[in-house]
Amino acid sequence: LFDLIPEEIPDGSFAMIEDFKTDSHDKKVNLSPGIYRDENAKTWVLPSVKQARVARVDQTFDHDISPQLGYPSLVSTAQQITFRDTLSTRVITSMQTIAGTGANHFIAQFLSETIQPKTVWLSAPSWENHPKIWGHVSSAIKQRTYPYYDYQTSTLDIEGMISTLRMDGSNGDVIVLQACAHNPTGLDPSRESWERIGQICEEKGIFPIFDSAYQGFATGDPYNDAWPIRHFATRSNGTMEFAVAQSFSKNFGLYGERIGALHIVTRNEESAGKVEAVLKKISRAEITSTPSFGAKIVATIFHKPELKEQWYKDLKTMSGRLGDMRKRLHDGLIQRNTPGNWGHLLTDVGMFSMMGLSQKQVAALRENFHVYLLPTGRLSFTGLTHKNVEYVADSIHHVITL
Ligand code: PLP
Repeated sequence: LFDLIPEEIPDGSFAMIEDFKTDSHDKKVNLSPGIYRDENAKTWVLPSVKQARVARVDQTFDHDISPQLGYPSLVSTAQQITFRDTLSTRVITSMQTIAGTGANHFIAQFLSETIQPKTVWLSAPSWENHPKIWGHVSSAIKQRTYPYYDYQTSTLDIEGMISTLRMDGSNGDVIVLQACAHNPTGLDPSRESWERIGQICEEKGIFPIFDSAYQGFATGDPYNDAWPIRHFATRSNGTMEFAVAQSFSKNFGLYGERIGALHIVTRNEESAGKVEAVLKKISRAEITSTPSFGAKIVATIFHKPELKEQWYKDLKTMSGRLGDMRKRLHDGLIQRNTPGNWGHLLTDVGMFSMMGLSQKQVAALRENFHVYLLPTGRLSFTGLTHKNVEYVADSIHHVITL
């Protein structure tokens, strides 16, 4: 029955994690995952999450099902974390999702069933799952890329982005933007550039989706990091329509709980009612109900002032350690006179930077030094520690100067 199924290419990221596990070299370093690790290269349980877990089990913990749009306190928390002062000025329909992936999937499914865009614009490069999610939802929606990263200068190609959208963008298209700490480049638009992006979306009638998976990782301050979203909420006298696909995997360290949210900002209550009905219909067919445990943890942290304070500290701890590792790797490469452009490692933000390595160099890093990066040359700073950073700098130096 299934003999004729065409061969599927296994997912590169997951395959790499498995390969890394079976590598027995004592100096091996995994610089591929988008999962925050601490100084001991272990997945970090945030102190705020630990305390919230205790606070929750102290209470009677029921295992009831959530309403159709998710655990209400999580949904309102997600709105506040995202929109803050703009919340009261806009009509926003929100639902809990199966992490950020689920939120991205849900908005793609929702749009394909409603406005039926002809084209979705993805950044070049982007998170490797964006094309998979959109391709999975609909083969009728054409995927196109807009220039984002200038590989020669390691800077944002804002002129290329704006001119491509101006020339080829059409009314009713969709664009996926990343709110902060862009994966894989670590490069975010300035506020001035965000204003230009907002303007071109309005001019061309392109519907923006913010993928917000790293709020708190760019500057250590979740409020700052969500500025582009609040800016869009106030554009055109508060009439711009857009969506936010939010993940709590990274900024709460709740990778396994699959917690996220989708927000759709509409012009009026009438559209919001229709949006809500479609979201409920899709949710019923796909998941019926949302996972509760992680949702209760996030809501507890946000509603207990001392835990919220601790969460802000946890975000600073994570972004601070990543900043420290950026500096150490940068300094290590400079001290070795490693050929390349390394200044951007200090100005990029979040977990990732593009190292400008060829696929051959990435393969040599893995084969000769047991240092694992994605084939694109994206390096995840979460895998670096005080103990291994010099070894990694040495390894990169060797593959570049071979
Ligand atoms: N969006 C981006 C840009 C990401 O990098 C990721 C995860 O790596 C996600 C969304 C999805 O995150 P999750 O589904 O783990 O919450």
